[in-house]
Amino acid sequence: MGAQTIPAVPICDVSLPHNSMISDDEDYRFQLSVAVYGYEQHQHGGGKQYLWGDRVVSHRTGVRLRLVNVGAHSQARTGGRLGYPICLVCGQSRSPLASQADLQAFETDHRQRCGRVVEPVGFYADITADAVSLENAVDRQEAYSVMEALRMGASEVLDMEIEDLQLLAVPQAGVRQVNLLLYDPMPGGSGILDQMIARWPEVVVAAQRIVEECPSQCQSACVDCLLHFRNSYYHRRLNRLTALDRFDSWHGTLMFTHDIPSRLP
Ligand SMILES: [Zn+2]
Ligand SMILES: [Zn+2]
Repeated sequence: MGAQTIPAVPICDVSLPHNSMISDDEDYRFQLSVAVYGYEQHQHGGGKQYLWGDRVVSHRTGVRLRLVNVGAHSQARTGGRLGYPICLVCGQSRSPLASQADLQAFETDHRQRCGRVVEPVGFYADITADAVSLENAVDRQEAYSVMEALRMGASEVLDMEIEDLQLLAVPQAGVRQVNLLLYDPMPGGSGILDQMIARWPEVVVAAQRIVEECPSQCQSACVDCLLHFRNSYYHRRLNRLTALDRFDSWHGTLMFTHDIPSRLP
């Protein structure tokens, strides 16, 4: 286990005045793959707990989460420098992937001009969202593979786009097990998770078909089954055979065990 600390600033909604058209015609379009981590803030509105095979699945409303964007995924993964080079006085920034010389010049310039040392910073947002979580998955591969397949299955069965639900892994210090939350980013909740729980057997069948019938019959995951542009952050965690193995042993039945009382600060 390793830990690093970075300062982070909150993000908020802004109004951007129209300046020019945003175009897809640029020669070198580039979207930085970023690492977003999150944790629960120990507050939720209660819900229901179920058994799915030998795993626990919970469905809670109003889960308070903090999401932290800690910088470029390529650097976070290798334990490199976290955060973005941003001057907190004037707001100018550089890419975290800029050359060492460029970053050095940027830091020197702003230390002299703005009178403050440029430290790499992250960004965070506090959100309240409904969530279905797979608790204590044995590792991230199981967690991501099963829940990504379920999200894709849900997008076939329910009236939703794949982006309407988001995945968030919440690890615990010192153990491999991880809770994986499938949360609904729509403020106030869109009701998709209620439908997903109600139609769990159908969603599991659809998810199972996606991982079982990969047209390429790949050995882990590929663009014909689980991989797509938006989930590149956890591509290396996805394995269709792991998901298939769990679906085969857990089947499609959720067994209600008890109500979860709300948790207030
Ligand atoms: Zn500055
Ligand atoms: Zn595949």
